[in-house]
Amino acid sequence: MEYAMAEQDGRDGSGGSGDAARFFDTAPGIFLILSVDGVILRASRMAARALELLPEDLVGRQVTDFVSEEELPAMMRARDEVSYGVMAAPVVLRATAASGASRLISWDGTACDDGSLCMVGVDITENPEFVSRDAVDAQMRQAQKLESIGTLASGVAHEINNPLNSILNYAQLIIDDAPPGGDAGEFAGEIITESNRLAKLVRNLLTFARTDAGDLVPVNPADVLESALSLTRASLRRDMITLEEKVEEWLPEIWCRPQQVQQVILNLVLNARDALNEQFAGRDPAKRITVSLEAAERNGSPCIMLTVADQGAGVPEALAERIFDPFFSTKPAGMGTGLGLSISYGIVRDHGGALTLESGAGGGASFRVCLPVRPAGAPED
Ligand code: ADP
Repeated sequence: MEYAMAEQDGRDGSGGSGDAARFFDTAPGIFLILSVDGVILRASRMAARALELLPEDLVGRQVTDFVSEEELPAMMRARDEVSYGVMAAPVVLRATAASGASRLISWDGTACDDGSLCMVGVDITENPEFVSRDAVDAQMRQAQKLESIGTLASGVAHEINNPLNSILNYAQLIIDDAPPGGDAGEFAGEIITESNRLAKLVRNLLTFARTDAGDLVPVNPADVLESALSLTRASLRRDMITLEEKVEEWLPEIWCRPQQVQQVILNLVLNARDALNEQFAGRDPAKRITVSLEAAERNGSPCIMLTVADQGAGVPEALAERIFDPFFSTKPAGMGTGLGLSISYGIVRDHGGALTLESGAGGGASFRVCLPVRPAGAPED
């Protein structure tokens, strides 16, 4: 596979021409550009220095050559996360330099437009405390989720993208062969338009799971809840579901991305609706969703707690671990994407909060969202 940037600026890692090359030569940072297969296409001088090599010694090598066997899975996972745009936290890896010395490097990365992966590293060998305990804990908690995102997203994306490329190619062949002005060319054009739409949808879903868009703004949580619920009322009425709201009178203003929080509420309420419809064919007094909003405390800091509870069949214990996994769904084909809870989880996590399933003793499911009143990133008073 050829990469535009490597072509323009030279593959020898020693400079090439243009701003990008100068940047790589002079910027005081560890930068690598990798192919999706993990081949080093370009390395900054600092990256080479950390490994006691020259940039040209790195180019063309597999990035995995520089990590120990135990760290290979973490390295591969980071690479998959970057290529699918879901790297939520930096990953710390130990690299082995030419002399055998080991360097501790904290990596972050992003996918470049041409498909290559841009990795930025910070050498924390001398001060490993640079990565705080919290960050490490968060990284470990995320590791499980991200492992499934990395594996599932890459699996699904490949499953969809490969046949999609074939469809696009065949449609193009039809266009090339079609008599001018006939239906065949026009229909094949439609196939291309729709296939491109699907490709975009797959990309969007994967990027969306990352959920880091927009500014935090101060809002009244009751207003956010109300606007989300207003979107569900017609659908709940149609399904003969009663919506019960318990909103505490005095709630603090919270800093959040309101549209994202609305989306979490929508996902939870619509899941509750689906669970109730599955459990009860028609009208039933138990066909009820209770949504409550109250002020609470989490880890000693004020938060607001939203609970969405229903009396459906609940979540079997064996599935409780899996429902937040991307693409996990027990709904019939075409009904569920399996993304609602994983996206909601990502949104709440990015707000510094927690989304948990509280299993209801008498059946049913109850989901709880804690959102800090003032998450990290919100301006001070
Ligand atoms: P989807 O709704 O597309 O299946 P989600 O990520 O929103 O994707 O949910 C994943 C799975 O979690 C659902 O398929 C279902 O098995 C389970 N689930 C979510 N909400 C509920 C609920 N209120 N009651 C029972 N099961 C639920």
